[in-house]
Order: sequence, then structure tokens, then C-alpha cells
Amino acid sequence: MRIGVLASQGAFAEHIAILHRLEVDTVPVRLPHQLAPLDGLIIPGGESTSISRLMLSYDLMNEIRNLAKNGLPILGTCAGMILLAKEISDSDVEPIGVMDITIRRNAFGRQKDSFETDLSIPVLGEKPFPGVFIRAPVVEQTDSEVEILARLADGTSVAARQGKLLASAFHPELTNDLRFHCYFLDIVAGDQ
Ligand code: GLN
Repeated sequence: MRIGVLASQGAFAEHIAILHRLEVDTVPVRLPHQLAPLDGLIIPGGESTSISRLMLSYDLMNEIRNLAKNGLPILGTCAGMILLAKEISDSDVEPIGVMDITIRRNAFGRQKDSFETDLSIPVLGEKPFPGVFIRAPVVEQTDSEVEILARLADGTSVAARQGKLLASAFHPELTNDLRFHCYFLDIVAGDQ
């Protein structure tokens, strides 16, 4: 199995480190030809405006959009989640736009700009997952095709799956808990 990590901007090195720990063949993706041999792709957190602009400049946007539509499994974390969404409220970022979710960027006020909280994510088992939120987005609306995998205590949706597309508002790559990445790799392998 070979997994690409979009390495235009943001926390790509942390995802690559986790994939190395899981002994997965990993490719940093900066140019379109690097997408060809992939079984799955991770779009990291960072600044969605910059990542979107770089994807357009390097001809990655359409390529990734087409691969996603043809069933390439993609995990988007934080800014990556924003980029997977079809709708982003109050923003002119051009997303890849393949998940039927509406996202609000920077959804937590200043005081809660960044925070950590234990999340219940039933698909990962009973043990709580450490949710690291950094200027995080939230999922405001979804289509019936979309499964919400995690919510905050107040009901806010912070992780979602639609087919082989997986998205989290938090940063699993900044924890030592590998279960979220393992869940994605199971989707790639067709076991989930
Ligand atoms: N606030 C960033 C954005 O809107 C996302 C933050 C992150 O990826 N940690 O793109």
C-alpha cells in the first residue's frame, strides 16, 4: 500500500512520521505525477487558503478532485477537512469540494482557539481519542450520505466519513494515538 501526503504547506511531516511508524510506504506529494501510484492520500492541517492556492498553482486541484470522484480514499485533517467540503461558509477558499458537508472555518472563539479534549469515536473502540484542536473548523451541515464519527459534548460534529473520504476537525497526527490513521488505512485496504 502506498499513501501520499500532500506536502504543499502545513503539518505534512507529522502525518509522514505516523505513516512511517505504521511502516506504510509514503510519498510526499508536491506535483501531479506523484499522485499516480497512490492507494490513498492525506491532506494535512495548515492554512486552507494557502493550500488551496498552491494546489491550483501546481495543477493538483483538478487532479485530486478527479481521483476523489473516482474513489481514491482521502483523509483530510483540519484545513484538509475544509478542502474536502463542498461548501465553506463565509469564505472564498476554493475547495476540492467532494464531501457533502458544509464547514465553518475557525469556528471556536478566541478563548478556545486551540484546545484538547477527549473524544468518543465509536468506530475506534471505547477508549477516548485525544482530540487536538488548533483554530479548528466544524461541520455545520451534512447530507444523508455522510456519517458523523465524532461530536463534542455540545453536539458539534468534528469528524465525518462519506464513502472512502474521511475528515477530522482535529489533528490525529499530533498525538501518539495511531487509531485514526489505522482506521483510514483500513478504509484504503477495503476492510472498513
Ligand atoms: N484555521 C485554518 C484554516 O482555516 C485551519 C487550521 C488548521 O489546519 N490547524 O485553514
